[in-house]
Amino acid sequence: MESAALADLGELLGDRLQTSLETRTCYSFDATRKKFLPDAVAFPVDAEEVQRIVQLANRHRFPVVPRGAGSGFSGGSLPVRGGVVLSTERMDRILAIDGENLYAVVEPGVVTETLKEEVRKIGLFYPPDPASLKFSTLGGNIAECAGGMCAVKYGVTRDYVLALEAVLGTGELVRTGVATMKGVVGYDLTRMLVGSEGTLGVITRATLRLVPHPESFTTLLALFSGNRQAAEAVNAIVAARVTPSAMELMDRTAIDCVRSMIPVELPEGTRSALLIEVDGAEAAVGREADLLAEACRSRGALEVRRASDERGRDELWKLRRSISPALRRVAPVKMNEDIVVPRSRLADMFDFLSGLAARKKVTIVNFGHAGDGNIHVNIMIPGTDADEYRRAEEAVEEVFRAAVEMGGTISGEHGVGIVKAPFMEMEVGPMGVSVMKRLKECFDPNGILNPGKIFPEESAVRR
Ligand SMILES: Cc1cc2nc3c(=O)[nH]c(=O)nc-3n(C[C@H](O)[C@H](O)[C@H](O)COP(=O)(O)OP(=O)(O)OC[C@H]3O[C@@H](n4cnc5c(N)ncnc54)[C@H](O)[C@@H]3O)c2cc1C
Repeated sequence: MESAALADLGELLGDRLQTSLETRTCYSFDATRKKFLPDAVAFPVDAEEVQRIVQLANRHRFPVVPRGAGSGFSGGSLPVRGGVVLSTERMDRILAIDGENLYAVVEPGVVTETLKEEVRKIGLFYPPDPASLKFSTLGGNIAECAGGMCAVKYGVTRDYVLALEAVLGTGELVRTGVATMKGVVGYDLTRMLVGSEGTLGVITRATLRLVPHPESFTTLLALFSGNRQAAEAVNAIVAARVTPSAMELMDRTAIDCVRSMIPVELPEGTRSALLIEVDGAEAAVGREADLLAEACRSRGALEVRRASDERGRDELWKLRRSISPALRRVAPVKMNEDIVVPRSRLADMFDFLSGLAARKKVTIVNFGHAGDGNIHVNIMIPGTDADEYRRAEEAVEEVFRAAVEMGGTISGEHGVGIVKAPFMEMEVGPMGVSVMKRLKECFDPNGILNPGKIFPEESAVRR
């Protein structure tokens, strides 16, 4: 970056512009563990400062990379072309919680769990629940359209975004949407910004929909002799017309992985597990839990465990919650994909994955949000062997192809960023990419915001 640009930024932000190597290093990586040093890190405190940073970027032509907590799995917040990382961590106020009209107004740097806890105090619920909720920010969740375990019943982040304020790549401030439940005036710019991965605008404020907090919960852990039975149980649950608030499937590889770390008592021959939760009014929850247990038994469950008190539910969740820490023990490096297939194709996808692991001689650990067909496919890379890495890369491409062929998607949660950019066309086709590029030009004609992301030929690195 030119020194004149840094001088102008310094004049605007004072000590909220940091250029030391220590600070730049702290903002150079995300959960992909890839590293790109920015030239500077900016800590604006309000929309006006964000606007002035982007205006300076247009004048001096340097990249601006919005960043929340840097917990992304697709490299979205990495400054692959250098420039300024724009951290939202000092824009972290909850501005309003409207208990009558059921919405909250927040700045982008609010940590997701903070909002969930605040609204809980008045009996309200902000449902989106990425597993990173203790540290990821609402701005990052909106920019990635984060999902989580309860998406099966409550939907994903986009379903809760009523209105946004954002600074476009031009430096203009735009307000989209309305705080009311209904609103259909003009194009839906709010949805355009949701999931745009910091490439169209910097979100500076969001109005988020809230719902009443559920009264009670019941958790079930159903154990099966194979993935096919578990996947069929998922379909039986749908057929029973019950909508659980979580429905997580763990295959044999995931169960073995957890059992290598902690003792878990399971019936002989367990090869697959379904963790299911229902929430709502107490009487309804009991009845729905009965229907769920029946559906699992009808598909050959070896055992169905059930708990409604907090301690018992925690115990049942242990198997699912232990997967991520256990994975880190199996191999320090993994390719963590988040494909989605139609629910009815879950069993086919699990069969495909076990065949692929054998064919490519790679370890693949699979688990996921079975209720929405979202499988986390973790291709483990134990060493630094180049051949092993190549086989893993080939396996990833095959997984993506199979997901698209089954009518699904290459990413249900983590977004494109740099890691999936080479595969964009596989899913959306050349015309899809072309229309997206034209939209990008409209929001950000000088390519200031987060360059090097999403579009195939622009991706600076593959994986
Ligand atoms: C342990 C772990 C568990 C996870 N579990 C889940 C999960 O269950 N579901 C899920 O969906 N994801 C999950 N993730 C991925 C990640 O947490 C989400 O993508 C999250 O939404 C990123 O938020 P962040 O604040 O860290 O954003 P960052 O990683 O900092 O940024 C992500 C993207 O958003 C853009 N961005 C950030 N803030 C803004 C803003 N204000 N305006 C415009 N663009 C912005 C960035 O440029 C980047 O492209 C997980 C990650 C980890 C490490």
